[in-house]
Formats: sequence, structure tokens, C-alpha cells
Amino acid sequence: MRLVSLEMHRWFDQAYSLTTLFYRLFFTITQAVKDSRFLFHTAGKVRRFWLVHFQKEYVRGQILVREGNCRQCGACCNLLFTCPMLTKRGRCYVYGYCRPRACKVFPIDQRDIDEVTICGGHCGYRFDREDSYKQGS
Ligand code: SF4
Ligand code: SF4
Repeated sequence: MRLVSLEMHRWFDQAYSLTTLFYRLFFTITQAVKDSRFLFHTAGKVRRFWLVHFQKEYVRGQILVREGNCRQCGACCNLLFTCPMLTKRGRCYVYGYCRPRACKVFPIDQRDIDEVTICGGHCGYRFDREDSYKQGS
């Protein structure tokens, strides 16, 4: 009887350790994803890809209402990762040749500008925030 009780105690001990381990692992991963803004920028890239290829009317409309100018700061080339086409001098290596559509029309709406701002950048373009969100949603 004592042996069975000892076995059960050991089993509960192991189950508890495993649960704690999984909990810590889950917590660490979710925290890392949240802190790194990985999902946020990934969603931004996927959204822009979708818009430039399948929502061309919307993109055209947004370009018409967009105000301001590009400051050539390169902040939009550093979202999620630093683009390999960005030279050390901060210039686009494929500018004028085969620059992706999403780059040519950036920022498409206020969400893109917000993405730059969150990274500490300052985009030279601006939108009427309400109109932009209305059309984008
Ligand atoms: S392709 Fe050029 S414009 Fe587009 S992210 Fe890369 S460096 Fe920037
Ligand atoms: S973040 Fe805005 S201002 Fe800076 S390079 Fe990109 S489009 Fe131009």
C-alpha cells in the first residue's frame, strides 16, 4: 500500500512539473510574439500584398486622397525585417527596375502610417484618418 501511495505521489509530482513547464513555455512564446510585433507586421505585409493585387480600385482611390510626400527615410523598408534590397546608404537597389507594387504605393492607408509610427519612424504622407479606415474596412 505504501508503495502504491509513493508511486501516485511521484506521478502527481511529474504531472505538476510538466504542467508548469508547458505553462511557462506558452507564456514565454506568447509574450515574445507580442513584444516583437511579429504578428502585427506580418499582418501588414499580407494585407498590402492582398490590396495591391486584388483591391486595385481601393489602392487607386487611396493614392488620390493621400497627402504629403515621401521623405525617403526608408522606414517602410524596415518593417518586420530589413529588406535585402536596401543599400547601406539607405537607397533601394531595385528602384526604377522591379520594385514590388506594395513598395511603389506605400502607404496605402492610415494603417500603414501607423505601422511606421510604431517602429519609431515618421512617414511623410498622411490621410484623413476617418476616410481611410472607412474605405479600408
Ligand atoms: S524593394 Fe526597395 S522600396 Fe521595397 S522595401 Fe526593399 S528597399 Fe524598400
Ligand atoms: S516611411 Fe513614408 S516617408 Fe519614409 S520612405 Fe516610406 S513612404 Fe517614404
